[in-house]
Amino acid sequence: MSDEKGWRRCSACKNFIERGSTYWVCNVSTCNRKRTALVFCSVTCWEVHLPEANHRESWAEERTAPMTSD
Ligand SMILES: [Zn+2]
Ligand SMILES: [Zn+2]
Repeated sequence: MSDEKGWRRCSACKNFIERGSTYWVCNVSTCNRKRTALVFCSVTCWEVHLPEANHRESWAEERTAPMTSD
């Protein structure tokens, strides 16, 4: 799946994450499986998934979106 406008969409608010911009991922490995791979445009959006994810200990990790599509 490739998107013309951005790299991916935020898993919470569905806004586009632009190529080369900062985004956030969950540190928990089950949130980063290739098929589920949650990405968030902000820490606030990452916090949205916490109640249903039920992590014991978690934090958001800062990443930079690639300039090329992958
Ligand atoms: Zn978002
Ligand atoms: Zn998570």
